[in-house]
Amino acid sequence: MAAHELYLLPSGTLALPRSTLVRGSSQTQEELLPVYSALIRTDDGDIVFDTGLDPDGNRDPSALGAGAARMLRSFTEQDDLRSRLRDAGASEDKVAAVVPSHFHFDHIGALRFFTRSKVYVQNAEHRMATHPDLRYTASRKLFDHPLDYHLIDGDTQIVPGVWALATYGHTPGHQSLVFTLPETGVVVLTGDAVYT
Ligand SMILES: [Zn+2]
Repeated sequence: MAAHELYLLPSGTLALPRSTLVRGSSQTQEELLPVYSALIRTDDGDIVFDTGLDPDGNRDPSALGAGAARMLRSFTEQDDLRSRLRDAGASEDKVAAVVPSHFHFDHIGALRFFTRSKVYVQNAEHRMATHPDLRYTASRKLFDHPLDYHLIDGDTQIVPGVWALATYGHTPGHQSLVFTLPETGVVVLTGDAVYT
């Protein structure tokens, strides 16, 4: 079995009006959203799913951009993905593959540090991020780096037993990650395809 361990790595907390998440609900009630990344240890190396918030934002929230800074409720130095990886006995320098679910700021904040990893992104997501329409703006400074991008179309095996699954909708090229753990069984990390 290719995947043998899963770590969920907390990366701060955002808040949104409940009505943004659940149609027709309160516009004033605030809903807290945990930001997280995942480390999956496999026979073919470590895989990281999503990279949380930009670590520059934990000393200066304005580094996240004005809109994101308004949503920020907590983000400590421990929440820096690099620190979380070290706590789990891993390192951004030794990650085989990174799979960002999509290019919203709270999913690719630390992507630029994975200079030695293959980065798997759906073609549709990359195209929309580089040629955004008015409703979709991905922060260029978070993804426009000389990373080893592999643009993929639809369901794609990342390493044996670990699949990126096309779950378009939240954004044009949103993807989830599917794998099987020895004791847990099938795991689906859904990113923002499923909020609750
Ligand atoms: Zn999103």
